[in-house]
Amino acid sequence: MAEASQKGIASTLDELCHAVAADGGAALYLDDGEGALQRVASSGSGGVRPPRLLEQLRDENHDPRSLVLTVPGTPAGVVVLARKTGGNFTQQDRAVARLWVRRLAEGTLATGTHLAPSVWTRRIEAIQRIGARLNRLGSVQEVSATICRGTFEIIDNDEAHLLLADDQGYLQPIAHMTRDDGTPPVLPYDGPIARHIGRALAATMPVLEKSVADAGPDRAGPHSLLIVPLLHEGHVNGLLCLIAAGEARFDDDHLRLLQILSDQAAVAIENARLLSGRDELVHELAGLLEVSEAAGAASDERQLATQLATRMRRATGADAARVSRWDEGSTVLRLLARDGSDACEDTVELAESALRWSALRDGRPVLAQVDALDNGVEARALRAGGVRTLMLLPLTAGGRTIGLVELLALHQSLSINESQLHALEAMTSLTATGLERVRLLEQLRSAADTDLVTGVHNHRYLQERLRQEVARSARSHSQLAVLMMDLDKFKQVNDRHGHADGDGVLHNIGATIMAEVRANDIVARYGGDEFVVIMPDTSPDQAELVANRVVRSIKNRRHALSDGAQVSVGVSAGLAMYPADGRTTAQLLGAADAAMYDIKRTTGRDVERAAGHPAIEAAAAN
Ligand code: GH3
Ligand code: MG
Repeated sequence: MAEASQKGIASTLDELCHAVAADGGAALYLDDGEGALQRVASSGSGGVRPPRLLEQLRDENHDPRSLVLTVPGTPAGVVVLARKTGGNFTQQDRAVARLWVRRLAEGTLATGTHLAPSVWTRRIEAIQRIGARLNRLGSVQEVSATICRGTFEIIDNDEAHLLLADDQGYLQPIAHMTRDDGTPPVLPYDGPIARHIGRALAATMPVLEKSVADAGPDRAGPHSLLIVPLLHEGHVNGLLCLIAAGEARFDDDHLRLLQILSDQAAVAIENARLLSGRDELVHELAGLLEVSEAAGAASDERQLATQLATRMRRATGADAARVSRWDEGSTVLRLLARDGSDACEDTVELAESALRWSALRDGRPVLAQVDALDNGVEARALRAGGVRTLMLLPLTAGGRTIGLVELLALHQSLSINESQLHALEAMTSLTATGLERVRLLEQLRSAADTDLVTGVHNHRYLQERLRQEVARSARSHSQLAVLMMDLDKFKQVNDRHGHADGDGVLHNIGATIMAEVRANDIVARYGGDEFVVIMPDTSPDQAELVANRVVRSIKNRRHALSDGAQVSVGVSAGLAMYPADGRTTAQLLGAADAAMYDIKRTTGRDVERAAGHPAIEAAAAN
């Protein structure tokens, strides 16, 4: 290699060392033609050694204090940089160094230089500045706009267009601008410009077209064209296209500069994509954390289901979300919570929804675009409801499917990518576990409140609820009735037919009472053969009606016993009203008990009202 050329290389290496603060020096190695690397030039201390190149090239993080860069256009040529003081080499240093190595390859190593060194250096510096700016940007949109604007700093063009590949690989216009930040006409879909773009993409090669005669209806006269595909890890992820009015406005130097910028652009765009992907992930993780905390803290099935519905609807941008319970083997879904829409049934018949049924049966998510569904009953129903997309996520806990989350998109169809799907599945799985835990707790709680023989509430629960209901009645100035009942001569049933049959009769009587009262009345076994009914918000007249109905129903019921015999059992009942007959639980129970014993001693009446209220007593007598 000529001495002058070697000097040129050494001075470029000097500048390179200066640009990236490589105080350990820089050296250029080239293949000597026989497969061995030869040091052809060095800068600084020159002490840099050819590293164990292959390893370093394979693993760029091998030693963060040295940098190895391949020299384009040379067989196996590399530049090695070293740093002794200061921090490690950064991505930014690597990008800058790559520019200088390219300069080395194309300027000094190649036969001739085109631009005067000072002009070239200024432009490289401009690219460096743009690169530094790009590294500070977080969104693909901002990066794209900065790249377009940057082209005007290094090249004399009239329009810059940046297109990026979407998920399907189609190029979409992302940023475009004129020198004065205006909006240029869009790139034509056909004609010579479109053909040149197609050519650049097909060959993954830059295109320099000095004169395009027909640049479309919005661009009069001949135009110059520069097109550079953006390459990242061997794949085209976009394209940069510069247009200038007039012929021969661009040359090879411009093309090279644009290639350097496009290298930076491709990296910056991928970084921005990664960054926004990470933002999405952080968002999803926050959502998961929220659901997981809610699932751990929930004590109410509906409350937890509502939180899930709200979160999932927000996470996906769906218009409505529903969460339903499904008991294995059941043919209906029972709605627990919904968000975003109020018009929907409380139960869904699975026979009418093959989609829901398949999600439950297979325990797998189903994403249905309603337009693409065959025109069956279900598709017609969905279309009639204005549904564009239906997404179904089964709730599974402990290997069992226990419910379903439905997401509905009404205004525009919904697409869910794989990472979103994973996040949604994680949310449903956490919630399903929470729902099961809450159900188990509810079962335990209800077992602790239930009398095993009769199936109605036990004495402890009765006391607790009566206390609450008395307090509530006091607050709302409403009346409350307490009905106490004791079976007549029940001991005889035990004596004649055995204790087990006696238990059976007690159970039947519990069920009989339950069947005759309202859902919000509380039925409990007070002890032995005594039952109590608490009737909130009830007047004496209403209470008496209910009491008589219950008593009649008990008396009329015939119980089949194990020996084939049938018995019926009499009952005596006493009624006490809050606040007239008592203001505390003990007073009320005492008054009802006393009234009941009154009637047990006499005969002919079913229900006795607590003493001191002759009018009602008389009414009860009729
Ligand atoms: P009375 O008409 O005075 O109420 O007479 P009675 O025979 O019903 O006697 P009392 O109410 O004083 O006693 C309740 C009886 O109910 C006593 C017991 O034989 C029966 N008993 C109490 N608890 C149970 C139970 O858990 N199972 C069964 N099989 N019988 C019970
Ligand atoms: Mg009794």
